[in-house]
Amino acid sequence: MAWIKTPKPRRRQRRHNQPQQAPTHTGGMGRSSRASPCDMDREFAPEIAQLLATPPLQSAKKYYDELIQSKKHDAIRVNYNSEHGKGICASKDFAEGDVILKDQMLVGAQHSLNKIDCAVCSYCFRFIGSIEFQIGRRLYLQSIGSSISCTTERHCHGSDVGSSTGCSGVTKGKSNTLPQEVLESLINGDHSLPFSDLFTLPKVVACRGCEEEHYCSQSCADSDWETYHSLLCAGSNTEPSRRSALHKFVEHANDTNDIFLVAAKAITFTILRYKKLKRQHEFQNKLDESNFSLLMEAWKPLSMGFKKRWWDCVAWTEDVDSCDEDSFRQELMDLAFTSLQLLKDAIYDAECAPLFSLEVYGHIVGMFELNNLDLVVASPVEDYFMYIDELPDNEKEEAEKATMPFLDALGDDCSIPCEGTAFFPLQSCMNHSCCPNAKAFKRDEDNDGHGVIIALEPISKDDEITISYIDEDLPYVERQALLADYGFTCACLKCQEEKLN
Ligand SMILES: [Zn+2]
Ligand SMILES: [Zn+2]
Ligand SMILES: [Zn+2]
Repeated sequence: MAWIKTPKPRRRQRRHNQPQQAPTHTGGMGRSSRASPCDMDREFAPEIAQLLATPPLQSAKKYYDELIQSKKHDAIRVNYNSEHGKGICASKDFAEGDVILKDQMLVGAQHSLNKIDCAVCSYCFRFIGSIEFQIGRRLYLQSIGSSISCTTERHCHGSDVGSSTGCSGVTKGKSNTLPQEVLESLINGDHSLPFSDLFTLPKVVACRGCEEEHYCSQSCADSDWETYHSLLCAGSNTEPSRRSALHKFVEHANDTNDIFLVAAKAITFTILRYKKLKRQHEFQNKLDESNFSLLMEAWKPLSMGFKKRWWDCVAWTEDVDSCDEDSFRQELMDLAFTSLQLLKDAIYDAECAPLFSLEVYGHIVGMFELNNLDLVVASPVEDYFMYIDELPDNEKEEAEKATMPFLDALGDDCSIPCEGTAFFPLQSCMNHSCCPNAKAFKRDEDNDGHGVIIALEPISKDDEITISYIDEDLPYVERQALLADYGFTCACLKCQEEKLN
């Protein structure tokens, strides 16, 4: 398996954690000890209970069958069993190293701070522009933005509260002394670097409204607009009070935990699906369907993921801010409530009111905490500099004259990948094993935000496909302790053997 071990560690796509089957563990103090500050939790209690109920088996089967069919994932199927709930099985044989699944995210986002380092499509997360654009933009932002990076650095280190899904990849960039004009000419395409035409990237397409989001194509721009962004765009066409509310929400998320940005996308995803379903029903004159049943239908993709309240499922250790567990969990709940109020100020929709309850918001964030994978896309800038480094001596000397000043200025930053967090609908159905037969892993050719699962060993048709939610090389007791945080006791072969010893 040499090829699996050779790539740089950053290409590994990690799962934050876990599970499909987590019936008992509450991760600490339950809700009973904590009164909700949210009036909507009480006002919409019956609707919220329906939104958060485990979907009936038939409904889940239909959803996954349609998903697998529409994405043509015919190599796998979803399996249901009373003990472990959902799981994924192979519907054909796989050899070691085969790709089992390329899962398209349901919702995800680049970490806020990583946006300084990498310009990627806000919908599919491919790198955009050109090698020159990537290098020039990063060095330019570093040079003008010591204020930006100081602020974000403080926020990320200081108070990224309560999550493994918070932002990472701090811009350390050393201050460079390259003239601004040089950087600008890289950005606007007037200055080109040798051999960069071997690393072409898609042209940048701007959002129709704002200057924050960019895309690799018009189709990604349109899809993002229709799926999530039209309600979150804070551009000049957006009504000023709403724009300022959106800014406040984003600022709070950047200051605390950028997982809230992904939660906001989950909510706009549902509202926009609801509106679309409603239009279709009105068009077809089907007026018998209630608004709430349409909302249930719109919410379906998110209803499938295993969920707990965020403040109940974040792992707590005694060294967390030296506070006790109860105040830690209370702090997370308060934080989520503040974030939700800011989001409500920006995009509240009365027909979808139950989505704006703290109970639903907490469960959405908790679902990401338990299921999300790190979103990682390797940087073409690193590949470019490696290519230059590997040129034959006669060409290399010439090329390095042009590229060295930039490589020096970037330092280690030239290898920073796009980093974020995302929820993958099929991958999140995969169960855990400490001796998994598959893992999430980005190969060199995987240059977008898909979740890629590869076989670690030959897998036969009908075998269950398992991945590890934790570092499976840890000793038995540590593994079980970590998995307990995710809500179950592992009884895989490795655990059964080690338990006896
Ligand atoms: Zn794209
Ligand atoms: Zn926009
Ligand atoms: Zn195990």
